[in-house]
Amino acid sequence: MGNPTLRQVAIPYPVDEIGSPAFQTLIQDMQDTLHAYGGIGLAAPQMGVSYQVIVIEIGNTSTRYGELDQVSFSVFVNPTVSVADETTAGYWEGCLSLPGFMGYVDRPQHIQVNCLDEKGNTLSVEYEGFLSTVFQHEFDHLMGKLYIDRMKDLTQFSFDEEYQKFHADSS
Ligand code: ZN
Repeated sequence: MGNPTLRQVAIPYPVDEIGSPAFQTLIQDMQDTLHAYGGIGLAAPQMGVSYQVIVIEIGNTSTRYGELDQVSFSVFVNPTVSVADETTAGYWEGCLSLPGFMGYVDRPQHIQVNCLDEKGNTLSVEYEGFLSTVFQHEFDHLMGKLYIDRMKDLTQFSFDEEYQKFHADSS
């Protein structure tokens, strides 16, 4: 947090370079970073790379967000998001760009994502519930936004440790 790249709107990844060695290196770096920090999602601007690329992977299902369903490593290039149902729900979110903090954010719980996958094929997928929140969190990174921008109540902004102690069971 504080790096200007995180506050810029990222540029679309050049479609004819999807699958190139530079692309493969970026994706590998993102996966390595996700694993190294135990995250579940990462956007390229968090690596200092201002491109519209997101990765999501939930391999270890026991996370700081509680028990989650497994999601295999997925790559999303140049995504667009449309809200399928405006009904919102809140979750405590963490972010590798704000290490040590968690914050409670309300977001729509049913979205439609259109993008390209790591092979450049069109991908259309719907997310509901927590995964809808995860994807919107990552998509916000491509738009220069952080989850703290979405918070309505800063009394629900917490250190990780205090989140585990006081909030994890009540959310
Ligand atoms: Zn984040």
